[in-house]
Amino acid sequence: KIPYEELIPFATMIKDQHSSIHNQLKDLEHSEKIRQEFTANVSHELKTPLTAITGYSELIEEGIATPEDTIRFSKEIRKNATRLLHLINDIIELSELDSVDEEIIKEELDLYEIAKNCVDTLKITAKNHEVELKLIGNPVFLYANKIMMEELITNLCDNAIRYNKKGGTVKVVTYSVDDKVVLTVEDTGIGIPKEHSVRVFERFYRVDKSRSKQTGGTGLGLAIVKHIVAKHDAKITLKSEVMVGTTITIEFPSMNK
Ligand code: ADP
Repeated sequence: KIPYEELIPFATMIKDQHSSIHNQLKDLEHSEKIRQEFTANVSHELKTPLTAITGYSELIEEGIATPEDTIRFSKEIRKNATRLLHLINDIIELSELDSVDEEIIKEELDLYEIAKNCVDTLKITAKNHEVELKLIGNPVFLYANKIMMEELITNLCDNAIRYNKKGGTVKVVTYSVDDKVVLTVEDTGIGIPKEHSVRVFERFYRVDKSRSKQTGGTGLGLAIVKHIVAKHDAKITLKSEVMVGTTITIEFPSMNK
């Protein structure tokens, strides 16, 4: 017979294990819920442009549209096809980020140089939106995945341009301080109301759905950014004031850390 006192540690162990299993189940339920929501959102997001493409092609097929209408409908078809393409690219990107559990490939990179290439590429988009895009800083080195850094800077600048005002500015800055390499993207745009500032990093969450779609947004840009930040043990902060502007800061661990 085992004395009562000796049974107590076993009872405690069983209780601990029970609560750990309970927590794991809860986590699983939560991720399953997120997965289901994502699938539902993806279906909806894909359906909208596809419905438009089908509708406009039917109108052209009927053969009664004027030449001007036909041009207009073709433009709509192309616009929606481009939208689909962006969406599919972002979905693939996210699912890759989700599935890669193993270490990503990192190399020594100059963040300033990467930012410069991205800014050069985005100059046309900025011009189309009548926004001034500028880069300030010095070469700063970090260990990172090059493609992911390009994606991150491009997504942030793209938002800073699209949610700006005519004649506004986007300022990209790279610098190092203490044991950190820092990137900030600052805009003079419409801003993000406080109550939305956490949720904008969720998949398909938008403050203003129509503006996002009108400017070619997929609702996945910041979710991708958040993932990339996590993969680099970096920290992201968002500061924003409605109708004044938004600043996003990312702090990476420096190479000598
Ligand atoms: P989207 O493709 O819609 O831009 P994101 O995930 O990149 O998706 O951003 C989510 C939402 O956050 C956007 O729809 C927009 O409402 C808001 N947002 C993101 N960046 C900015 C910014 N720089 N200024 C104002 N609003 C922003």
